[in-house]
Parts: sequence; C-alpha cells; structure tokens
Amino acid sequence: MPAAALSHWRDFRNIVLFTGAGLSAESGVPTYRGAGGIWREYNYQDYACQRAFDRDPVQVLDFHELRRAKALNCAPHAGHAHIRAMQAGHPGVHVITQNIDGLLQRAGVAVAAELHGSLWRLRCPVHGMREDLAAGAFAHRRCPDCVPDRAPWLRPDITWFEDAVNEAVFEHAAMLVDDAELFVGIGTSGAVWPAAGFAERARRRGARMVEINPEDNEASALYGEHIRLPASKALPEAFPIGG
Ligand code: NAD
Repeated sequence: MPAAALSHWRDFRNIVLFTGAGLSAESGVPTYRGAGGIWREYNYQDYACQRAFDRDPVQVLDFHELRRAKALNCAPHAGHAHIRAMQAGHPGVHVITQNIDGLLQRAGVAVAAELHGSLWRLRCPVHGMREDLAAGAFAHRRCPDCVPDRAPWLRPDITWFEDAVNEAVFEHAAMLVDDAELFVGIGTSGAVWPAAGFAERARRRGARMVEINPEDNEASALYGEHIRLPASKALPEAFPIGG
C-alpha cells in the first residue's frame, strides 16, 4: 500500500489504533511469540496465573519486578511519539492496547483501554489500585492500608493466563471500536482472544481496515490494507502530521 494513501487520515472522525506487543518490539520489549519470547524462558504456570500467585506470591512478585526493570530499560520509539502527535492533532484518535509495558503512557499517549492491565499497577481487594509508572519495585508488597496482620498481598493488575478479562475495559473498547471509521492494527498477531475479536468487530461495522506489521499472520485477512514495515517507520509514513 502506498503510504500516501492515508494522507487524509484526519478526515476519519473516529480512529482506533489497536496495538500489540509488536509496537514495543523496536523498544526492546520481547514479543509474545517467536524467538526471545518470555514464555520460552519462564513457565507461565509458575509466574503468571492466579494459582502461582496463591502458591508463591513472592516468586510471582519478583518476576513482575524483573519485567518492570526490563521495561524501564526500554525507551519509547518514534512510533510511540507519532501516536502522541496524532492525538495532539485529532481528538478522535483512540488507542486500545494489549500491551502491559506502559511505553505508550511514557511517550505521553492517552490510552483509552488497557485490555490486559498494566505492569505498573498493583491492586488490593479492599483498597483498590496503586499505580506508579516509574516503580521498578513498589514500596509495599502487602497492602499498607489493611490491618497489618491480615494485609493481603498486592496483586499485579494484569490479566494473567486463565483469568477472565476486565469486562468494563472490554465494553469501553467495544464502544470505541463500534464508532471507528478507521481501524489500524499495529504489531499484533491477532492470536490472543478475546482481544483479537476487535479487528473482526471493526471490519463488520464497516471500518476501513489497515494493518501495520512486517509479517503476515492469520488475522491479516481481516484487513484491507497492509503496511509491511516496522511500526516506527510505518506510522509516520502512513499518517503524516505536517502539510
Ligand atoms: P504477539 O507477540 O502475538 O505478536 C506480535 C506481532 O508484532 C507479530 O505479528 C509480529 O510480526 C509483529 N511485529 C514484530 N515487530 C514489529 C514491529 N517492529 N512493528 C510492527 N509489528 C511488529 O503480540 P500480541 O498480538 O500483542 O499478543 C501478545 C499478548 O501478550 C498480548 O495479549 C499482550 O498483552 C501480551 N504481551 C505484552 C507485551 C508488552 O506489553 N509489550 C509483550 C509480550 C506479550
């Protein structure tokens, strides 16, 4: 697809940018699938499910601290900055992300829906969320506002394997997708459900469908246009800001 084809992108009233792990790949955060993927190194059953947390919260919290430290070593790239610039010039650019790494937020992007939560939030069943985008290690592992002897472990606010998704977040995302005239999938394999269903939903609603991904995958057929470039190059080329 010639990049210039979307030079009129501002004419779309509502735009959804649907992002996945591939958007963070150029920042150095490993994607889910393929070589270097974290689940080749760690067994999710020991680190990323409620059962593991119930069995050994310290091991699970150590693992998430490590992931935060790794994410803090990664910086947002030109693609993230471009999304921020798109939002600055158009109030209808909505970002729905599957990423939990906080890179979009660190780039100043307003994220409308974090479908799978965030590495940077911990939650107490009684007192709710604690959020800190810069916390490699949180000051507390047990809720400091609960009765000391019975304070629960603070659980990462992430949709782990075997968890149900956050329905309120998915409903909000669905509303945005239903209104989208342009839907851009960026760096997602479309293999993780139910999040992957948003592309099909947008297509059925008649949105113009654009995929940014250097590689083809099973969800690519949902898109009418494909930009086979890394996100940092594709975004500025496809959605020019100036002029
Ligand atoms: P995925 O790993 O399944 O797929 C990543 C896709 O990005 C691939 O199709 C790949 O071809 C593409 N890609 C690689 N480099 C790219 C680039 N430079 N520009 C554009 N595309 C590129 O990712 P997914 O579809 O998001 O599903 C993974 C799941 O795991 C998500 O649910 C997510 O919550 C979680 N996850 C998150 C992170 C993160 O927060 N960064 C990292 C790994 C996994």
